[in-house]
Amino acid sequence: MKQEMQYKLICQRKKGLKNISLRIKRVDDEIEVIVRTPFLTSQAFIDNLLEEKKGWIEKKVLLLQQKTVLYKSQKPQQGYEEYFQKRVDFFAQQMGLTYSKLVFKNLKSRWGSCSSLGVIVLNIQLAKVEKELQDYVIVHELAHLKYMNHSKEFHKFVESFLANAKKLQKELDSKYTLA
Ligand SMILES: [Zn+2]
Repeated sequence: MKQEMQYKLICQRKKGLKNISLRIKRVDDEIEVIVRTPFLTSQAFIDNLLEEKKGWIEKKVLLLQQKTVLYKSQKPQQGYEEYFQKRVDFFAQQMGLTYSKLVFKNLKSRWGSCSSLGVIVLNIQLAKVEKELQDYVIVHELAHLKYMNHSKEFHKFVESFLANAKKLQKELDSKYTLA
């Protein structure tokens, strides 16, 4: 027997909305499929759309179900700060870049960030992933000191220090999710 896909379907009809969007995300332990349509869209139209996109939705839901969830409520073991500090300094030196401050945060939304003032933020949940994936996030954020965007030049720069950066980014995206 084929197992039913477990997800919550949410239909939102919005006034003023011109386009249809279909999004799939994890909210805590549940996977939500969210369809947003203009206000006067008929149920038949939505049903038809969902039927048409069934394969795509199931594939996405399955991929999300396979990810390891890193919960904000579960802090990693102590000791990561010193390690990350060393790693950030190592790569900053290799890349010839200077940052102003390294800050640790416990985040649900992102692995890290870099501000225009040179502040590097790392999500402490990173302490739970493989070292090479940590390195990827560190190099990625440091590279933003030079390029404040995700342009071709930015990616080239990242890849000149981590040749397999693309693979690492895919791995991070496909293996883990923050919640
Ligand atoms: Zn970035």
